[in-house]
Amino acid sequence: MKKTITKWFDNTQSQVEQLTNPDAIDLTRIIPFIAIHLACLFVMVVGVSWVAVLVCVLSYGLRMFAITAFYHRYFSHKSFKTSRWMQALFAALGATATQRGPIWWAAHHRHHHIHADSNADTHSPKDGFWHSHLKWFLMKKNFATKSEYVRDLEQYPELKFIDRFDILFPIIYAFLLFALGAALQTWQPQLGTSGWQMVIWGYFISTVLLSHITYCINSLAHVFGSREYATKDDSKNNFWLAILTLGEGWHNNHHCCPGSVKQGFKWWQIDVSYYALYLMDKVGLIWDLKYPNQELLNKKLIRHKP
Ligand SMILES: [Zn+2]
Ligand SMILES: [Zn+2]
Repeated sequence: MKKTITKWFDNTQSQVEQLTNPDAIDLTRIIPFIAIHLACLFVMVVGVSWVAVLVCVLSYGLRMFAITAFYHRYFSHKSFKTSRWMQALFAALGATATQRGPIWWAAHHRHHHIHADSNADTHSPKDGFWHSHLKWFLMKKNFATKSEYVRDLEQYPELKFIDRFDILFPIIYAFLLFALGAALQTWQPQLGTSGWQMVIWGYFISTVLLSHITYCINSLAHVFGSREYATKDDSKNNFWLAILTLGEGWHNNHHCCPGSVKQGFKWWQIDVSYYALYLMDKVGLIWDLKYPNQELLNKKLIRHKP
């Protein structure tokens, strides 16, 4: 039991663990994952208010941005540069999305780009929807960070700390939401919210939505949609996923040019994360944004018959 608890709080345990059955689901480690889903049922106890729903949506948007713009486009693909402070801030904010730490996330993602839809791909939908959606990260062998892919990120002690103790960040986030709800209950009682209501909507419901929509990029964006570019994988462009994930649904574009800061290449390919990054560039918070090479795009373009 003690070993399980330490594994929940300290990811270095996974790095040194000797695995007897690496493909099996880690039944003790997935308890927090299941608990987050079950906690949403407490909505029947805490009720609803418009302010709690608003915080749920804002919490989703902010953390989806941290995942797509920073965990994905920055930590995994280095598609722009920023300061060490911003890097740490968004690493911590991304950790509140409860998808593990930035180094673990980037390592698995870089591995995906190298092996996409081959036998070595950790989360190809060729191994089934549920495998690519969530089973892959519940397997014993995938709790460890694939360190060989992320030596550049491991040189920052603050990132290593966030990655090692990633579970602390959702706990702090939920505590802040509780404080917000309790403060509103005291000073703005007409809003009809409370500490626990804010935690259930702002953290639990928001996180479950955020998690499953993110997983859909692995499970659905390699299956449903259209292909514009000849990539060696099955990646697809999907409008609805692009809306829900702030731009990640242009997944075929992304597999064509993984290092590009923008994933919507045409004006109508809505890419909210890119619009926000563009503004952050304009005010000097990030710089050296990388764009796709037009020559490469032309070369890989699939010429659809008229
Ligand atoms: Zn992919
Ligand atoms: Zn990627």
